[in-house]
Amino acid sequence: MSVHQLIIIGSGPAGHTAAIYAGRANLNPLLYEGFMAGGVAAGGQLTTTTDVENFPGFPEGISGPELMILLRRQSERFGTRILTETISRVDLRRRPFTLYPEDSDEGIKAHAVIIATGATAKRLALPGEEELWQKGISACAVCDGALPMFKEAPLVVIGGGDSAAEEALFLTRYGSRVYVVHRRQELRASRIMADRLLKNPKIEMVWDSVPTRALGNGTLSGVEVENVKTKERKTLAARGLFYAIGHKPNTEIFQGQLELAEDGYIVTTAGTARTSVEGVFAAGDVQDRHYRQAITAAGSGCMAALEAERWLAAQDL
Ligand code: FAD
Ligand code: NDP
Repeated sequence: MSVHQLIIIGSGPAGHTAAIYAGRANLNPLLYEGFMAGGVAAGGQLTTTTDVENFPGFPEGISGPELMILLRRQSERFGTRILTETISRVDLRRRPFTLYPEDSDEGIKAHAVIIATGATAKRLALPGEEELWQKGISACAVCDGALPMFKEAPLVVIGGGDSAAEEALFLTRYGSRVYVVHRRQELRASRIMADRLLKNPKIEMVWDSVPTRALGNGTLSGVEVENVKTKERKTLAARGLFYAIGHKPNTEIFQGQLELAEDGYIVTTAGTARTSVEGVFAAGDVQDRHYRQAITAAGSGCMAALEAERWLAAQDL
């Protein structure tokens, strides 16, 4: 069986930047972009958003999906072969490494691997959530907000970070009123996003509160929330409930193969993309719980490709 020089797992800004650098270094990378891996389309988290205003080079902003199409095209331009498959199992214990695409017992071998599998939106497992999931409850306002069921209806967003701010602002285009339920009195969102959120007349903050139950028969009709200080409960009549409570790194398949932190993030040597296994590198949100931005993901993808290239050269591979 032939051994690939480099396989990249993941298709967000980190994976594609790694592919662009590795392709230009003549490593002929193979990139597995995933097929709804972690519940997100190929292209990663930015495919679930509208305008990206902070990726350098686009002074007027660019839509998330469009940015990912451009990155994908740039990867292909330099010779990356892209497969729309998800890697479901890996053997990183011996070299060359073996990766198993979903529904296949036949492994693919590689001398070096870059992991850029990103992260996935968290859910709350509220009573009522399972029955009403995608029947009013969603983790992606940008994907679902324009559905007719949410038009001119009251909507609820959970969270206090940039995602919550962005999703709530986006939902004001459709809903009659948008409640943002946050478990503290202080937002985590960046200043500019927080200001926009707090200034919007269609948005009402519900501070110090958490959702306790999703209500509805067939479709969502309300959200029960509890004030964490007073323990008082009330029901917000709502047809939409959108989670924006952060993400979980997509690292299940690496458990027991690589060093992972307690919260699942891949551990890399500070200032590098090196993991605990020589020849395996990690980039993007899968190893970054602090910055979690497209540009930092892209930057770390560049680092991973340069390190993989040097490591392969040092091994005469
Ligand atoms: P991801 O974008 O998470 O992509 C990884 C992808 O790899 C997965 O989605 C999947 O398609 C694939 N994959 C996963 N597992 C496998 C597998 N086993 N096999 C094959 N493929 C797999 N950042 C900004 O800088 N500006 C913004 O305006 C901005 N807006 C955002 C809006 C929202 C709603 C969200 C959720 C995030 C936003 N971010 C923004 C953050 C940004 O999207 C992320 O930091 C960035 O996408 C991380 O890139 P990544 O390459 O690490 O991984
Ligand atoms: P964050 O982790 O930043 O925020 C998650 C929010 O959800 C926090 O306010 C947190 O509360 C709350 N939360 C977490 N768990 C629970 C729970 N179980 N119950 C109730 N509330 C909960 O995630 P985001 O997705 O907002 O942002 C991720 C990254 O993506 C950030 O780096 C952000 O800057 C970036 N991003 C950037 C955008 C932009 O630049 N335009 C847009 C969107 C995201 P608490 O604050 O109390 O911890």
